[in-house]
Formats: sequence, structure tokens, C-alpha cells
Amino acid sequence: MDAQNKIDRARWFEGSSANTSPPTGDLHQPWRLVLLGAPGVGKGTQGELLCQRLEICHISTGDLFRAAGNRKGGDQTPAMADAMKYMRHGDLVPDSVVWELVREQSDFLRSRKGFLLDGFPRTLAQAERLQLFMDDEKLSLTAVVDYEMPQAEITMRLSGRRICAQCKSVFHVTWRPPKTEGVCDDCGGRLYRRDDDNPASIAIRLEAYKHSTSPLIQFYKDLGLLTPVDAVGPADEVFARTMAALQARA
Ligand code: AMP
Repeated sequence: MDAQNKIDRARWFEGSSANTSPPTGDLHQPWRLVLLGAPGVGKGTQGELLCQRLEICHISTGDLFRAAGNRKGGDQTPAMADAMKYMRHGDLVPDSVVWELVREQSDFLRSRKGFLLDGFPRTLAQAERLQLFMDDEKLSLTAVVDYEMPQAEITMRLSGRRICAQCKSVFHVTWRPPKTEGVCDDCGGRLYRRDDDNPASIAIRLEAYKHSTSPLIQFYKDLGLLTPVDAVGPADEVFARTMAALQARA
């Protein structure tokens, strides 16, 4: 890669106003990313930031399930109503139901723009299913970002987390309280606590992560895709670290 291309590429990653168009070279390829990491490490926030910067589609299975759960009774398939029970309890939804939901997004997965998967895959069977789909479509993942954070910090984050029902901004009762209790600083929307952000469900979700999702780290390491990122610290710092890690791979 020549020196000018290297500078352009660095500016584009940093979001410099001096150069907002994608650099030449291999970054023309669409970004196809997977975000791994325990619940509460900030995948949703980083996912939003990455999608804005890289101009790719954000696909969050948790958000898709919550949206499906908000549909009126008659509009919900029996499988989806069942999925809501797993979700409320903090358990993983069965692989077949999850894949059905992701398959409905296959136009986005095929998009020339690229995509970011947040909260999927979460089991080896899901990762293998995704790999099969990608092979069939002759597509490949660009990187799998693994956000790392000590468990004590994760529990503390989840138990005080509040989310804006409108713009999805994330607050924390102690570490990032809103100016007015229950009201989003960014858009004035209502803040709520997720049904599964209670101590019993948090323990089950962290156990599910350790048992089912952490084996994916080895799976993606073996494929040469794993990109570990330290998730401790303010969102903008974690974002800068993520960009640097992706840049190092590109
Ligand atoms: P999240 O918003 O990613 O924390 O997901 C919330 C909940 O949705 C999880 O605790 C699971 O019950 C369910 N869920 C989301 N994605 C998946 C997945 N890939 N596999 C199984 N369950 C999932």
C-alpha cells in the first residue's frame, strides 16, 4: 500500500472531516462484522457507532426479538411467543427460532454495503449455520470483534442500566444518570429498565454466555477472524480502540 493511501485510510477510520470518502484499496470491500462479548459490554452502543462510520446495516437479534415481542398477540407466531418466554427468563432462544429470524434479514446479509451482527451468533450451532450461509453466498466475514470486560464490571453495568425507549441511548443510575430521572438527555424519551436486567436474569445470561457463547472465541480464532478489544472505559475510547484494531486488520 502506498503512503498516501495509508494516510487516507487512517483519516477515514478516524472520521476526519478532511476526508469523508472511503479510501482506496481493500477498504472498498464491504465490512461484514460480528460483535462478540458478554451482555452489558456495550455491543449495542459500539454497533451503532460502527454502523454510522462504516455505513453498514446493524442487525441485532436482541432488538429484533424485542420488536417481535411488542407486536400484538395475533401478529405473533407461536415460535415467537415462545421465544419471549426464554428471553424474559434470560435464557437463550432455541437455535432454530433464532436462525429463522436471521434468515428473514438475508437481504441485508447479502447487501453490497456489508453488515454488522450484534448478539448473533451466540452458539456454535448458530456460528456454523452462519458460516454455511456465507459459503453458499460466496461471502466472507471481515472480522469478529470480541469485547473483553471483567465480570464484576459487567454485573454492575447491567444492574443499573437504563435505556431510552425512543433513541436507545444507554444510561446508568450511578455512573451516567440522566439530568432528569426517567427522561433521556438526548431526545427526551422515556427511560426503562429491560425486563431481563434483573439480578436473577443477569446471572442466567452471564452463565449462558460462559457456557454457549465463549466457545465461539476459539471458533473464530481458528478462522483467523478474532479481533479482541478491551471494552472498559468510555464509549468513545472503546470505539477508537475498535477502529484501530479493524484498521490493523484491513
Ligand atoms: P441482547 O439484547 O443481545 O442481550 O439479547 C436479549 C435476549 O434475546 C437474550 O438474552 C436471548 O434471550 C435472546 N437472544 C438474542 N440473540 C440471541 C441469539 N443469537 N441466540 C439465542 N438467544 C438470543
